[in-house]
Amino acid sequence: MSNWLDFRLIKREADLESVLRHYGVELRRSGKDQYRGRCPIHRGEGRDAFHANTARNVFYCFACGAGGTVLDFIADMERCSLYEAAEKLETMISSFGLSRPAAKEKELVTERRKVSSPLAFSLRGIDCAHPYLAERGISKETALTFGVGFYTGPGLMQRRLVFPIHNVAGELIAYCGRSVDQTQPRYRVPPGFAKSEVLFNLHRAAATEETSVVTVEGFFDCMKVHPAGIQPVVALMGVVLYEPQCCALLGRFQQVILMLDGDVAGRRATKIIAARLRPRCPIHVVELPFGVQPDQLSAQEIREILAPAMQRRLALR
Ligand SMILES: [Zn+2]
Repeated sequence: MSNWLDFRLIKREADLESVLRHYGVELRRSGKDQYRGRCPIHRGEGRDAFHANTARNVFYCFACGAGGTVLDFIADMERCSLYEAAEKLETMISSFGLSRPAAKEKELVTERRKVSSPLAFSLRGIDCAHPYLAERGISKETALTFGVGFYTGPGLMQRRLVFPIHNVAGELIAYCGRSVDQTQPRYRVPPGFAKSEVLFNLHRAAATEETSVVTVEGFFDCMKVHPAGIQPVVALMGVVLYEPQCCALLGRFQQVILMLDGDVAGRRATKIIAARLRPRCPIHVVELPFGVQPDQLSAQEIREILAPAMQRRLALR
């Protein structure tokens, strides 16, 4: 993969209006920066199904549900991956001189529709120096960075280690509470929490300049990789990568470095997730020795294990 592409740069260079024109899409103006028309993707009869906002550089079809950015549009039209869409867009820019967007495009990460609403409160009195954290090799500094600690207040999370979970825009949407003794369930989330739609630490990872993201299973794995100097890291909070999580990840990153646990579940999940990602982006699988999981490793070991993937990533940039 020598021919690396900067998605953000490419998208900044091309506006949706020009791309629509390039594909011969005819839309009617329906408001300031708003256009409507027949959907060129599903080619349905609805004359108003397809909406485009040229200021925000996004589109949405109310009939087929297609939507997103310039790249999503090209991927849908060409039935190709986002990566291939970026290549095609780059060609269009250089061959046809597509124009720049009318307004500066917002960060990629905020373009996706928000699926989880922010919490109206935050827990107070979280103890970031609880001994359990030290037992798991998490420094107070890291606990503070992640806002993780022991909560003794009332409610669902009482006497649990709480992990604040944010949406990609960085808004707090839930806490996950882990018991520090034998209390079941080991992990507790609020009713209605849509785990399939969020990735732990995605908002911090997305705020970096990185184009590659390390993906691990759990909170503790993530909190060990991050202080090792590898900030673009997210946790699945399990062993499944759901489609909305996958979209969120690929909406921001170009390459995924998978580092799941070195056990049967982790190896199996790695195969499934790799198969899901491979047609859509370059991936790098880091296979840990059997019986090893990232949170048991020292910062030095994590850096060494991830070095080949990180160096390869540098070469790609
Ligand atoms: Zn459509």
